[in-house]
Amino acid sequence: MLDTLLTPIGQLLMITGSKGPKRGSDMAVLPVIEHGALGIKDGRIAFIGSAEEANGLEAKERIDCSGKVVSPGLVDPHTHLVFGGSREHEMALKQQGLSYLEILSRGGGIFSTVKATKAESEESLFQKGLFHLDRSLNLGITTMEAKSGYGLDRETELKQLRVVKQLNEAHEMDIVSTFLGAHALPPECKAEPDAFLNSMLDLLPEIKAEGLAEFADIFCETGVFTVEQSRNFLASAKEMGFGVKIHADEIDPLGGTEMACEIGAVTADHLVGVSEKGISLLGTAPTIAVLLPGTTFYLGKDSYAPARSIIEAGGAVALSTDFNPGSSPTENLQFIMNLAALRLKMKPEEIWNAVTVNAAHAIGRGEEAGAIEIGRWADIVLWDAPNYHYLPYHYGVNHVNTVWKKGRKAGERKPSYA
Ligand SMILES: [Zn+2]
Repeated sequence: MLDTLLTPIGQLLMITGSKGPKRGSDMAVLPVIEHGALGIKDGRIAFIGSAEEANGLEAKERIDCSGKVVSPGLVDPHTHLVFGGSREHEMALKQQGLSYLEILSRGGGIFSTVKATKAESEESLFQKGLFHLDRSLNLGITTMEAKSGYGLDRETELKQLRVVKQLNEAHEMDIVSTFLGAHALPPECKAEPDAFLNSMLDLLPEIKAEGLAEFADIFCETGVFTVEQSRNFLASAKEMGFGVKIHADEIDPLGGTEMACEIGAVTADHLVGVSEKGISLLGTAPTIAVLLPGTTFYLGKDSYAPARSIIEAGGAVALSTDFNPGSSPTENLQFIMNLAALRLKMKPEEIWNAVTVNAAHAIGRGEEAGAIEIGRWADIVLWDAPNYHYLPYHYGVNHVNTVWKKGRKAGERKPSYA
């Protein structure tokens, strides 16, 4: 006896792939079961097939999903979930034409968030985190990554990471934690960037011992950290057993992507300014390109990451919100899917793979999340959409009908933090 049987389903998106991310032309492959059915038992996927095959099955609850789409829960592989304050006052500066780096050089931007995060209590950061997680879950995201990086000192970086750990325990969302102590160079450390980076590396043994993060990340950009500083930082983190990620070539083509591919980074993120050489390396290296078109959109830029070239080179692309209080204040990965269609010229099939299976591999969860396979946790979304082409098309709204996290309807279970 199944607990829940979704039947008939207009389109069941058969996104699979525990072996690795989908790369190159495989990204455009999206098998679909029309008039399908999916069964859930003990929180896991227990049946996949056609509605006809499901006819004889018994279930405690049957849900008619005709005319709708069922997909794996979305995975958001790049967020800055925990932060103090918010930055709505910067809108006027942006309207006056100040760039991100100009606001940064005035001590604004990220440093106002750092100040606010230092000042805010662990409990307050935790409560705000719950609010954003609820919103993400209701938008169809069932697994996400969360970075630190608004502390830039021992105490606050560890505070942020502990809040993420508590959120992961308290909330239905599965959260993968990344240490981004090298997010920016604090003004008081301007003269000694290497000493600052070493002070962040010094935290890694403690982070490892407490299980506070699986990945380490660095912001490699003009005016922040150089490629060589990033290479040394990530190499040390890798030696200590962390998976490594990099914010690379977001603004200037410094070569962070090439370095990421050389050292075996799990992902290189942003890539708006990636070079031809970087694109061709992404085609062969295991490094996944995590593209964040919401940030480009929000910064008001016209030039987007070259998703088509990366895919045509044979690379694996994942998409993410880059949810953060400065350059991408949104939890809405569905809107990122719209931008991927409109500005990155990605095909609907590529977009669905980029927010599920590839995003899961980008955060080391390829075996657990982002796919529909028997025996996996039933992280499932029912969409109010007649077909999968519809989501990248109809923009700016939440298409979610129902989200199941580990087989339970989101919102049905009393939140453990209530
Ligand atoms: Zn970021």
